[in-house]
Amino acid sequence: MKLEKYSFGIGDRFGQQGLAQLEALIKAKEEGIEIVPVWNKSNREHQIIHSSPEDTFLEANNAVLALQWEDSYYVDADHINLKTVDPFLDHANFFTLDVADYIGSEITEQELQDFLKEASAYEGELLIPGIAQPFTISGELLVKIARSYLGAVREASAIYKYISDCKGAEGFIAEVSMDEVEAAQTPVELFFILMMIKQYDIPAQTIAPKFTGRFNKGVDYVGDESLFRKEFEEDLLVIDFAVLTFGLPENLKLSVHSGSDKFTIYPIMGELIKKYKKGIHVKTAGTTWLEEVIGLAMAGEEALQMAKDIYRNAYERQDELCGPYSTVIDIDPATLPLPEEVVQWDSEKFATTLRNIPGHPNYHSGFRQLIHVGYKVAAEMGEAYLAMVRKNAEIVGDQVRTNIYERHIQRLF
Ligand SMILES: [Zn+2]
Repeated sequence: MKLEKYSFGIGDRFGQQGLAQLEALIKAKEEGIEIVPVWNKSNREHQIIHSSPEDTFLEANNAVLALQWEDSYYVDADHINLKTVDPFLDHANFFTLDVADYIGSEITEQELQDFLKEASAYEGELLIPGIAQPFTISGELLVKIARSYLGAVREASAIYKYISDCKGAEGFIAEVSMDEVEAAQTPVELFFILMMIKQYDIPAQTIAPKFTGRFNKGVDYVGDESLFRKEFEEDLLVIDFAVLTFGLPENLKLSVHSGSDKFTIYPIMGELIKKYKKGIHVKTAGTTWLEEVIGLAMAGEEALQMAKDIYRNAYERQDELCGPYSTVIDIDPATLPLPEEVVQWDSEKFATTLRNIPGHPNYHSGFRQLIHVGYKVAAEMGEAYLAMVRKNAEIVGDQVRTNIYERHIQRLF
């Protein structure tokens, strides 16, 4: 299996929007932008929603059949490890091997020496074609990088091997992810991580490093855009060089776990991948769920009422809902509208407060983030929520399609 140049991760918490999501990619294709869909859902999401990997698999298959999509499509076992991978084995063909928790785990002296044997050839000045300044590589730096990342790559290899023993190496795409950590990986670290990935024989087709800046869920990038540009460009060039040097899969590309809505850096990414003729995988963060709430709000009456109930409930349970996401959200509780206020809102006010239109006077990123992490509330409503979404399928689907096509694909590609 060989992943195409452009792929787009579409998360769908409740599994209702497969058609609308795929329609956005069909529209892109009609406009000449070929992007393959990757339905991604993590174990954590499945647990909270009480869905199963099979549900995602069926959703993807149904959408593909209904819309006669003839290109590839993938179902991503997102952020799995050895403990959580089993339920995904029969229902995914893309596996995101998440080894962030293994960064810094212990390695043996032998493992260190095996790494250094190859890595020390790069000691001194490392010149990567396309990057003007050479990197200075000291023996100390190599040991530090090994102690940080070798244990993580070893773990990725164990997960990879487990999956390939079950499915066969041809049966899936492997991504290695280290994005859910505080500290970004530098382009130099990425170079040596790729060397390790080769040493451990993982035919990764995508790699998801942690980039500089904050990638909060559902809202725009927070950080220094020029630093991001430099790092992203260097990462692209490092990957090119590593593919040639180490013999990694030639379609190896960056995977950006965007957390959705990184509107200010989309044009930067778009410009640079075109400049270097590189592919990209962009994972979003299930903001399709927010489009469902926006659609309900716009539908008015009982649907709007449900959207307000979801907000009230999320507002009252902020600590519980935000806790698991504390490193990927920034909400100032003092600025959140009170549920008593929100009750008075009409469809337009609710929808425009939640919808991410940069510069719109009503848009409130705290409101958006709180509802984003509040999908547990809708999960608890169970069938009542799903029935309301189905009842308003048309207006909800419009939001989902427009969001993916206009706000994401058009900005990025
Ligand atoms: Zn991620």
